[in-house]
Amino acid sequence: MDVHQPRRPHRPGWLPVVDAARCTGCGWCVAACDLHLLSLEVRQWQKSSTLQDADRCTGCSDCAVTCPFHAITMRKG
Ligand code: SF4
Ligand code: SF4
Repeated sequence: MDVHQPRRPHRPGWLPVVDAARCTGCGWCVAACDLHLLSLEVRQWQKSSTLQDADRCTGCSDCAVTCPFHAITMRKG
């Protein structure tokens, strides 16, 4: 069994979109992504989560569900 399988079902074509205005930079979503596709970046002196490799994202939404500030929305396309 692949130990890196995300916990939720794959939804091809769906990607997490981070609302930088809501993101506190807490890093929970970074830890939640089993594929390590998110990282924290500093933009305009504010830390926020950024998807680094959209091609590998399975659309599982683990990151979105984990965000305590509801800063991540899953969008198709
Ligand atoms: S869990 Fe939410 S608030 Fe925390 S870094 Fe990720 S998007 Fe930002
Ligand atoms: S939806 Fe989020 S947790 Fe799932 S693979 Fe994509 S970036 Fe990782």
